[in-house]
Amino acid sequence: MYRTNTCGELRLCDAGKQVTLAGWVQRVRKMGGMSFIDLRDRYGITQIVTENEDLNAQVSKLGREFVIQATGTVKERQSKNAKIETGEIEVELQTLNVLNPAEVPPFTIEDVSDGGEELRAKYRYLDLRRNPLKKALQLRHRMAHEIRNYLDSQNFMEIETPYLIKSTPEGARDFVVPSRMNPGQFYALPQSPQQQKQLLMVAGYDRYFQIVRCFRDEDLRADRQPEFTQVDCEMSFVERDDILETFEGLIKTLFRNVLGKEFNEPFLRMPYAEAMSKYGSDKPDIRFGMEIHELTPMVKGHDFSVFDSAEYVGAICVPGIAGYTRKQVDELTEWVKRPQIGMKGLVYIRVNADGTIKSSVDKFYSPEDLKAIADTCGAREGDMILILAAGKKKTQVALGSLRIEMGNRLGLRDPKVYAPLWVVDFPLLEWDDETSRFYAMHHPFTAPKPEQLKEFYSDRKEDLEQVNANAYDFVLNGTEVGGGSIRIHDAEIQKRMFEVLGFTPEDADYRFGFMINAFKYGAPPHGGIAFGFDRFCALFGGQETIRDYIAFPKNNQGRDVMLDAPSRIDQIQMDELCLASTVKKEE
Ligand code: ASP
Repeated sequence: MYRTNTCGELRLCDAGKQVTLAGWVQRVRKMGGMSFIDLRDRYGITQIVTENEDLNAQVSKLGREFVIQATGTVKERQSKNAKIETGEIEVELQTLNVLNPAEVPPFTIEDVSDGGEELRAKYRYLDLRRNPLKKALQLRHRMAHEIRNYLDSQNFMEIETPYLIKSTPEGARDFVVPSRMNPGQFYALPQSPQQQKQLLMVAGYDRYFQIVRCFRDEDLRADRQPEFTQVDCEMSFVERDDILETFEGLIKTLFRNVLGKEFNEPFLRMPYAEAMSKYGSDKPDIRFGMEIHELTPMVKGHDFSVFDSAEYVGAICVPGIAGYTRKQVDELTEWVKRPQIGMKGLVYIRVNADGTIKSSVDKFYSPEDLKAIADTCGAREGDMILILAAGKKKTQVALGSLRIEMGNRLGLRDPKVYAPLWVVDFPLLEWDDETSRFYAMHHPFTAPKPEQLKEFYSDRKEDLEQVNANAYDFVLNGTEVGGGSIRIHDAEIQKRMFEVLGFTPEDADYRFGFMINAFKYGAPPHGGIAFGFDRFCALFGGQETIRDYIAFPKNNQGRDVMLDAPSRIDQIQMDELCLASTVKKEE
């Protein structure tokens, strides 16, 4: 037996026991004739002490991260350390055995390390020894465990689906895998197991889930991973509310069992249209107010051409910033002009602490006009109203981004405060001007609202734009954590959907023939949802970035810097796969 105990479990009540511990040397200290070792493993740190001359000599040869085995007697410590759980005891060393020496690690294995991100990524196995990452992975494990428990208690079956499949239409690019046995042909890695889980419903497995890896070859925006994990679920014989209730139960169970937080009230359900008009986002952060107010009718007709020519004028009222300097306002103006936001300028109204109102458009609006706007926005003394104008959706989205920015600046987005909600009633389709065609807002298997089938079969773009989907997102603190829908289970409606999306019948048949076919053999009404597991864990951990919650993540360029992947393969492999590269060989 290598050890009798872990480095995290000995307490005062163990005093007098003979124990053997094994782990990594965190630190060695000498004080007079005494040596101390902080011995670390996954469970904690235990102090080991000796006054013996021989043992002192052995201890002095230990370096950081040596793997050792230490036998000794547990005793009460003279100077206790309240910061660690084993801080009341130490182990008086009797025998020391070096299991494996270690080179000096390239960065310190401490809670706050001196290593830069790239270096720590390269030595991920060393970084994973640090407490913050250990805690993150422990939380992830706990979450997975609770999810399995809850879903099992609700009769869900965990079923694995294949990774080598055919393209899934989730809107991203596929990662593809060449097939050696079928030269010139490729598998696609799943963007989600969408089709398989629906086929499992056709097969009669009426409650399915899987904690499953998904792959999306997207241009990596900050904090996205090319492979990520979903909690993927599907249910039969359900309507939307059955699904929302089942998964609200899951989320509340996670809050309770992982974070000790109770949510007694049902989660808010906000229609997409309301989320857009009030928050300028389909994933509103409702931890703070600062809602958007439409001003279009009240500001027109004052000879201010910017507003007169705009389709939409809207505002947010930011509390307590009436005292912003000219420079600060200019900086905000630059912020809204950034290409990501794309506004031409920013109009402000200051509601000063003394009750006077001052704006950047005083020339066009009387004090009464400005007062009326301030009242519409619910402004109080000390607040500043920020106004944007342009096309409706563009302005709402820009105001939504400005709102989040101001929320961040004012410290209104406390990661320890949780504000969950469902966003419901998404549009079914999204028109894309560039390609002049509709895209499915969720995915092509999402059902239109049954009462809107007439519009769904209409040839007019305006009618189709009206159609809402039976789709929903779960949103937590301004982040979309989950999304799903009631599915189409009727082969004819599914065919119509492919037609609306611009697939020729041959195309639809080539890509999704098996689905349409399966729907002919008794498909039950069904629907489901998938949660982004990495993001869910990060939010529960109170962190913005998901990387810490993944044992071996990729960097922002989609690279695994530890393995140095992706990398070239040799010519023999290329030949076997009947592949040729168009990239010139590096010298
Ligand atoms: N497959 C969907 C997704 O990955 C989720 C769902 O509709 O269940 O977003």
